[in-house]
Amino acid sequence: MPDVVTTIADLREREEALLAAAGRQTQGRRPVIALVPTMGALHAGHAALVRAARQAADVVVVSIFVNPLQFGDPADLERYPKTLEADLALLEEAGADLAFAPSVAEMYPGGEPLVRLSAGPMGTSFEGASRPGHFDGMLTVVSKLLNAAMPRATADYLAFFGQKDAQQLAIIRRMVADLNIPVGIRGVAIVRDDDGLALSSRNRFLSAEEREQALELSRTLFALEADRAAGRPLDLEAARQRLESAPGIELDYLELVDPLTFTPLAPADLAGQSASGEAAGVVVLAAKVGPVRLLDNLHLE
Ligand code: AMP
Repeated sequence: MPDVVTTIADLREREEALLAAAGRQTQGRRPVIALVPTMGALHAGHAALVRAARQAADVVVVSIFVNPLQFGDPADLERYPKTLEADLALLEEAGADLAFAPSVAEMYPGGEPLVRLSAGPMGTSFEGASRPGHFDGMLTVVSKLLNAAMPRATADYLAFFGQKDAQQLAIIRRMVADLNIPVGIRGVAIVRDDDGLALSSRNRFLSAEEREQALELSRTLFALEADRAAGRPLDLEAARQRLESAPGIELDYLELVDPLTFTPLAPADLAGQSASGEAAGVVVLAAKVGPVRLLDNLHLE
C-alpha cells in the first residue's frame, strides 16, 4: 500500500524523503515528482493517470479530497462515494508512492477561504453555466493542492489530469500559465468501459436501464469521429437531434470548442489547425441520465 498522510506538514516531510531517495538513483538528473489530484472513488480512469505519472516521474503523489467548495448542491456532496480502502488498493496496483487524504479542516482551517480564484469567462460556459461557482471552487483547491505538494528539494514538478473533464483541464492549464505556477500540466486520454461509456465515479448511480441509455452519448461521439475519419462534414446539429430524441437522455449541450480556450468553433474552423500537435477541436457534451449528470468528449486531431 502507498503511505497515507493526512496533513500538509506530513505530506511535505514524506515527499522530501522520497525525493532524496529518488535523487540518489537518478545519476545527476533532477528527480521528477508528479501530483494526481482526485476525489477518490477511484476507477480505471484514475489508474491511467497514476500510470502516466509513474512513467514520467520518480515520485508519484495522489491526493484524495472531496472538495466541498466545488459542489453547488449539498445533496451531491453528501452522496459522493467514499471508498478509501479500495482506493488505496488501486493506488498500490497503479504504482503510487504516497496518498494525501486530508480532512476538510486541514484544507480549510479557517472555514471557507475569503480569498479565492476565479476561472473568469472560461468558468461560466458549458459546465460552469449549469454549475455556478464550480470551476472557481475547483481552481481554489487545485491551486492549494499544487502548492501543498510543490517540492522544496531540487526537482521537476508535474501534475496529471484527465481529458474526460476537458473544460477543467483547459482552465487549469490557463491558471498555471496566467499565475506562473511552476508545474507542468499533462492531460491523459479518456478511459472507457468496454461498451464505450466514459468511466466516472458517478456511473454507480445509474440503473441497468439508464446505463444502457447512456451508451448513446459515446455512440454519438464515435459516429462523429467516423464521419471525420471518412472526410464527411461534421454535422453537430444532427448529433444534437440524435441525443435529444434518445430515450432517457436529457441533453444539456453538445458543442465543438477550442481545447485551450473553450470558445465555440464552427466545423469549418477545424481545417488546417492540427499541425501544433494539440487537438484541433473538442466536441464536448453533457447530459442528464436518470439522477446523474454525465460528461463526455471527443478530441479531433
Ligand atoms: P475526480 O476524482 O472525478 O475529480 O477525477 C480526478 C481526475 O481523474 C480528473 O483529472 C479527471 O479528469 C480524471 N478522470 C476521471 N474519469 C476519467 C476517465 N474516465 N478517463 C480519464 N481520466 C479520468
